[in-house]
Amino acid sequence: MLGVCTKDSRGHVNLLHLLQGPLASARKAALRLLFPPVCAVCGAAISSADGLLLCRDCLAKVRPVPSPVCSICGKPLGASFSNGHRCGDCILKPPLYERCISLFSFEGPVRELLHRIKYKDDGYALRSMSALVGAYLPADLKIDLILPVPLHAKRLRERGYNQCVRLAKSIFAGIPISYDGLKRSVYTQPQTSLERRQRLVNLKGAFEVCLSPEFAQKRLLLLDDVLTTGATITECVLALWKAGFRRVTVLTIARTLRPT
Ligand SMILES: [Zn+2]
Ligand SMILES: [Zn+2]
Repeated sequence: MLGVCTKDSRGHVNLLHLLQGPLASARKAALRLLFPPVCAVCGAAISSADGLLLCRDCLAKVRPVPSPVCSICGKPLGASFSNGHRCGDCILKPPLYERCISLFSFEGPVRELLHRIKYKDDGYALRSMSALVGAYLPADLKIDLILPVPLHAKRLRERGYNQCVRLAKSIFAGIPISYDGLKRSVYTQPQTSLERRQRLVNLKGAFEVCLSPEFAQKRLLLLDDVLTTGATITECVLALWKAGFRRVTVLTIARTLRPT
């Protein structure tokens, strides 16, 4: 017996308390024997203790954004470049952010995990994705405050949570998160249903900044799950820039890449 079981109001046994207290690690090991971990994407049994919660096959299909990338916008450059170069777009019209980092191509297991986190509130997928992100985050990333890309209040009520907040809390434990420093003040159509040009128009003026001026000199990290056209990021950063917050780094877990 692992301990004294408690029951909730519906009479269901509550196992969570077994994972706390002085014998927590022994109990976790016992639970792993009873319920061996499975891959967060395909459900295959896994034995690895690396915390990624992915089987070998799924891990092999994770595609990091290929180097070299533009040192400003993070877009992959041709093989003839080396890291540290800027792309033509960033030379002609530098973005308002300091740097944009995207970790993975939006496909395969990464797409599946992000989909589950966004639409199914899947905590197991969130754990897996956070561990994966932790393994790929640049070591030189310095952050004072995280700004998850916000949902409009209406969409937040519909969904019940903001997946970017979930990701921020899970990936950056211990770093302050602003929940309302950036607000989506205009309810817009889902970006996925629109063409590129429409996306830019759809989001014009959609964000409002309510951040204390004390953060004007702080290093802000704007966090989004996927970068597609960049319209959301561009609008968020423009709103921050106009409000005087100009030390912004952007992190997106994934970005859409052309197939290779
Ligand atoms: Zn798998
Ligand atoms: Zn660039």
